[in-house]
Amino acid sequence: GCTAQDVVAALRAGAEIVAAHREELIRLDREIGDADHGENMDRGFRAVVSKVDTAAPETPGAVLKMVATVLISTVGGASGPLYGTAFLRAAAAVGDAAELDGPAVAAALKAGMEGVAARGKAVTGDKTMIDALSPAVDAAKAAADAGEGPVKVLSVAAEAAHVGAQATEPLVARKGRASYLGERSAGHIDPGARSTALLLSAFSEAAR
Ligand code: ADP
Ligand code: MG
Ligand code: MG
Repeated sequence: GCTAQDVVAALRAGAEIVAAHREELIRLDREIGDADHGENMDRGFRAVVSKVDTAAPETPGAVLKMVATVLISTVGGASGPLYGTAFLRAAAAVGDAAELDGPAVAAALKAGMEGVAARGKAVTGDKTMIDALSPAVDAAKAAADAGEGPVKVLSVAAEAAHVGAQATEPLVARKGRASYLGERSAGHIDPGARSTALLLSAFSEAAR
């Protein structure tokens, strides 16, 4: 199963992938937003890594809860509260378990997505991070139902999230800043969907 230490390792990998793709996320957000998504996410995940280094929470749920608090206070914009809510709901879903199995990881992802949907009122096809999260949740559930462990659950979730993020390109945004552009938002990948897919890839790689 996936321990608190594994979650911390996944977050470190998440911070690395966000830093490596900082310019890309800025560029995507420049095209349909205000060009700050790369900065916002890089600032937030750097803060997450330094916080978990000093605080060393003991359960996966405690780590996830700490991540939520740090992201809410450091990322800002629309995505800060949304990612914060996702991690907070994921933390609640896993409770105080010492280790997470495949179904627990799938349930955490589902709870996270439901938190984003509740807070942002976005549905699939609105060209947001939901378009990456929703297929990831479905793929994770299918793998967990088939008896797969956390490594496989995360890898199918990451693959599905990448497909979902790519599929935002032709869409017209109906939520967030990009929606102000109307039809002109079409033809660009949503930055939040891209960052979600990148994070899930990093979590998946770290779990292997
Ligand atoms: P801001 O738009 O405030 O500058 P960011 O650039 O950090 O914030 O994040 C933008 C991303 O947030 C979008 O690409 C989109 O994925 C996501 N987002 C914005 N509004 C919503 C919403 N209502 N529901 C879900 N996701 C949203
Ligand atoms: Mg922005
Ligand atoms: Mg902004």
